Amino acid sequence: MEEILKTIASDIFRQDEWGQKAQYIPELAGIDPRQFAISVCLKDGSLYSAGAADKPFSIQSVAKVFSLVAALGRVGDQLWTRVGREPLGNSFDSVLLLEQENGRPRNPYVNAGAIVTTDALLAGRAPKLALAEILCLIKHMSDSDSVYINEAVAASEQKTGSRNKALAYYLQSHGNLYNDPELTLGTYFHQCAIEMTTAQLAMAGRALASLPCAPKVISHLRARRVNALMMTCGHYDGSGDFAFQVGLPGKSGVGGGILVIAPNVASIAIWSPGLNHYGNSHAGTRAAAMLTRATNWSIF
Ligand code: GLN
Repeated sequence: MEEILKTIASDIFRQDEWGQKAQYIPELAGIDPRQFAISVCLKDGSLYSAGAADKPFSIQSVAKVFSLVAALGRVGDQLWTRVGREPLGNSFDSVLLLEQENGRPRNPYVNAGAIVTTDALLAGRAPKLALAEILCLIKHMSDSDSVYINEAVAASEQKTGSRNKALAYYLQSHGNLYNDPELTLGTYFHQCAIEMTTAQLAMAGRALASLPCAPKVISHLRARRVNALMMTCGHYDGSGDFAFQVGLPGKSGVGGGILVIAPNVASIAIWSPGLNHYGNSHAGTRAAAMLTRATNWSIF
């Protein structure tokens, strides 16, 4: 594994094309896209990394996986009355289908769906408590205390996130937002601003991969479902291509992170902040494809 990751990292650093930064979040726009890290946690609990695996990055939409796990733990299958389980085929912040489908987001991994999931998690509590629950869950899953929220990134989105605000108020107009939209949005922006390293993220994914070394935070059936949604919806309108190239469930974020789950085999975290035109990590996707080709981990 060490050799495989070393080869992947040196191949990535040889490439010329790194993709674009997430320009619409000012705090992330200054980052150098030519960075890369990969970490893999195996069944026996061993962790292998290459690149900047100890550098915290903004996990952004990868957090949607953890808030989904937390919300399912809180409200159970009731969540599916408010959010669907179908891929979208539009960008992650699209308002298009939301209008046609009466304010019921297609899935929990597009922004509108994640805003509803966060709203379910909030359920009349102070945002601080809901955030504490997500952070505690991630710390427990990653077996690490040093996972934190970057307030500057949250504030940056709070100032510029008109699209997400529009989605939240639109959801409210359809009766699918139960809390004050500003409170739900504040909670959503803060969960997106969580920072952690690929080493921590790979550890956090162990429970979703149902690895024996993982803490028991989610049932096998629920993990399967969360993973199924990662496969079909985790890369937005690039999900089909990710399945084609990589063949494993994955969840991306505009910070350039990707969490990839090889069920019963491994948990993988990759980071490279340059994005492709879907808003998914350019080098990260390439590295994930190289890894599954080298290991035969594709589930197909
Ligand atoms: N915080 C970002 C947003 O809400 C997350 C999007 C993403 O990572 N794809 O727009």
